[in-house]
Amino acid sequence: PVPTAEALLNTMREQDVKFLRMQFTDILGTTKNVEVPERQFEKALRGDVTFDGSAIEGFTRVEESDMLLRPDLSTFAVYPQFSRDPRDPDDRGRVARLICDVTLPDGTPFEGDPRQVLRRQVDRARALGFEMFVGTEPEFFLFERTPDGRGTTVTHDKAGYFDLAPIDQGERVRRDIVNKLLAMGFDIEAAHHEVAPGQQEIDFRYAPALETADRIATFKFVVKRVALEHGLLASFLPKPIAGVSGSGMHCHLSLFRDGVNAFADPEGEHGLSRAGLQFIAGLLEHAEGMTAVTNPLVNSYKRLVPGFEAPVNVAWSTSNRSALVRIPAKRGASTRAELRMPDASCNPYLALAVILASGLDGIEQDLEPPPAIQRNIFKMTVREKRHHRVRELPTDLREAVDELEKDGVVAAALGEHVLTHFVRAKRAEWQEYSQTIHAWELDRYLDLV
Ligand code: GLU
Ligand code: MG
Ligand code: MG
Repeated sequence: PVPTAEALLNTMREQDVKFLRMQFTDILGTTKNVEVPERQFEKALRGDVTFDGSAIEGFTRVEESDMLLRPDLSTFAVYPQFSRDPRDPDDRGRVARLICDVTLPDGTPFEGDPRQVLRRQVDRARALGFEMFVGTEPEFFLFERTPDGRGTTVTHDKAGYFDLAPIDQGERVRRDIVNKLLAMGFDIEAAHHEVAPGQQEIDFRYAPALETADRIATFKFVVKRVALEHGLLASFLPKPIAGVSGSGMHCHLSLFRDGVNAFADPEGEHGLSRAGLQFIAGLLEHAEGMTAVTNPLVNSYKRLVPGFEAPVNVAWSTSNRSALVRIPAKRGASTRAELRMPDASCNPYLALAVILASGLDGIEQDLEPPPAIQRNIFKMTVREKRHHRVRELPTDLREAVDELEKDGVVAAALGEHVLTHFVRAKRAEWQEYSQTIHAWELDRYLDLV
């Protein structure tokens, strides 16, 4: 049930909330907020806070720069009491936040608001009788900071997958993160040390797509804030260190219809329903097209290489982790497809929107997935892959953006405004990268020629 504005005002008074953050996300996935003091709480809850949209890259043209923040009252959360920041002598009272939709002054939803882009796909699914649930597995590294506070890529531990304290010093930090997330209403499924030294994973429970996208943004903020309190840097960079595992954000996807898992069918192939198979087919069909959105950084493509449990090939499997889509063994209400390429640098709203659009396209077009591949694809020869018609994901950001522009379904899901700004920003990013002289080039060539 959505709380009323009255109820929230009371809660904030009771909990000594002094500041309210009106939070939203820009096209590139950066969380933005306008913070209002106590006196403005009523006005903010009424949806009467304006901000200058032109100040945010890719948001609006100058002539329509006044935007309104319309809070989604169901997203209210009070931030946990973080330890006092010595740089902030006036740190009294608590801070709460509300996630907002962005509208034009007349109240119409702004087409450049990523939350709006996801809402459109959620509505499209609803029209077909479905609701998409998503559970995510964000991975990240905990790194040391220098004495003056700058981040490094030095890991603070030498532990590995599921190792136990005392080797795993990250456990203390992780537990602190989990406690703070629980206090904010997160339902944490599991937390563990990942494969690489310093690498962590915290999984939270599946929820409707929009709620999960909201949570990813909050999750990253809390993880980074708590790590900072422990003197560490938490980074979701997909591949911070060459030669060891990168960090992904696997998405576990399922559709429900009238409260029943619509992917499950004990009689169907692999225990999957027709809709489940069509949805998987849609994910594979649009894999290349959506990768620029699910893996948006130059660095994202350094994770998508063979040998580190990150996907490279467009294929699905019910058993092995080298495939793009894996169907975990659980059936019944837990029947789901795990999409393994996304990483946590994505804009969660846009990523879930293109994922949902792709799966729904599979259903609407009645697509058929190719046969599942149960072998380790990394060990297949080029000829075998060609025989099984296994395609490859884009190998760099430029290729990914080209694929995005070619994929009508993914492009339509983003909508004209977001597509244009996203492509422009990503092309500029690629150009800057490709014109930079990197340390590797100097190490390799400077003396040689
Ligand atoms: N770290 C791996 C990745 O980049 C995933 C490991 C796992 O299966 O959890 O996707
Ligand atoms: Mg993992
Ligand atoms: Mg996983």
